[in-house]
Amino acid sequence: MTIAHLFGTPRPVLSFEVFPPKRDGDVESLYRAFDELAPLRPDYISVTYGAGGSNVGLHHEINARLVRLGITPLAHFTCVGQGREAIRTQLDRLRDAGVRNVLALRGDPPKGTGAFEPHPDGFRHASELIAYIRERYAFCVGAACYPETHLEATSPADDLAHLVRKTRAGADFLVTQMFFDNAAYFAFVRRCREAGITVPIQPGVMPVMTPKFFDREWGVAVPAELKRSLQEAAGADEAAASGLAFAIAQCRDLLAQGAPGLHLYIMNRVRPARAILKSLEGESGRGGESLPSK
Ligand SMILES: Cc1cc2nc3c(=O)[nH]c(=O)nc-3n(C[C@H](O)[C@H](O)[C@H](O)COP(=O)(O)OP(=O)(O)OC[C@H]3O[C@@H](n4cnc5c(N)ncnc54)[C@H](O)[C@@H]3O)c2cc1C
Repeated sequence: MTIAHLFGTPRPVLSFEVFPPKRDGDVESLYRAFDELAPLRPDYISVTYGAGGSNVGLHHEINARLVRLGITPLAHFTCVGQGREAIRTQLDRLRDAGVRNVLALRGDPPKGTGAFEPHPDGFRHASELIAYIRERYAFCVGAACYPETHLEATSPADDLAHLVRKTRAGADFLVTQMFFDNAAYFAFVRRCREAGITVPIQPGVMPVMTPKFFDREWGVAVPAELKRSLQEAAGADEAAASGLAFAIAQCRDLLAQGAPGLHLYIMNRVRPARAILKSLEGESGRGGESLPSK
């Protein structure tokens, strides 16, 4: 079943995001994590793609592993530093491995290299990659969106106009950048609908587990109370528990207000996936007839 089909069912679509580990040996711990995540019955697991295709082999291997485990993968794919031939070769391989869903992204330039520069035989915007995939493949295609506006966008209105382009090019569903203010998500969904975007917009939730998270600028508003509760926690465990409590409340509220699912940025960690699902199950029974309907 494709992810677009899953959004067509009454049950909220639940997914986890993981990344290919940088160190070779660590992939085994990711595979162990898959064994622990499988019983939580995610609808799909998305696998990020390294800047500039830096981890193509491992990215492919992880997606293929998920197919073999019977878990639907969503393969992220960016056009950074790649011409059409390289793009085609990788998409062919993903298709041949049984991957059916791709998240088509422009991508960020590798750190320290300045503004995004398209490959001479590549694509400048995600919308162009989406159109290219649509023309040649039967993949179900997802795309990224930004409730609080993409960092490089000239204005929220321009960013929205470009998002409309992505859906017109053929994106079947959208996954949001993390946000912590649900009102920002629902206001964004309203603006998308007014602009004519009809595809599902799956909210992305980041369970913050450590105060180190706040050392970096993420381009999204962070509530002062979340930051304070982690920074003032007595230790690592208490900080993680605070972050999880915030994420659980956020997820509950999103579903209660009719979000079509949850995309959890678990970043290879089992604990937040388990804690969030367990708490939602207690409330609304994902184990049985599951979460509230959309
Ligand atoms: C859910 C999600 C998953 C992600 N996964 C990854 C990943 O695996 N690997 C990775 O490297 N990065 C990933 N990213 C980050 C993403 O690559 C960056 O945010 C990147 O800067 C933009 O990618 P995009 O696909 O949104 O680009 P685009 O949709 O092309 O937009 C990029 C910028 O260009 C502007 N724009 C778009 N079209 C036009 C146009 N026609 N004319 C002028 N301006 C235009 C937009 O307003 C925006 O400011 C992810 C982001 C999200 C939200």
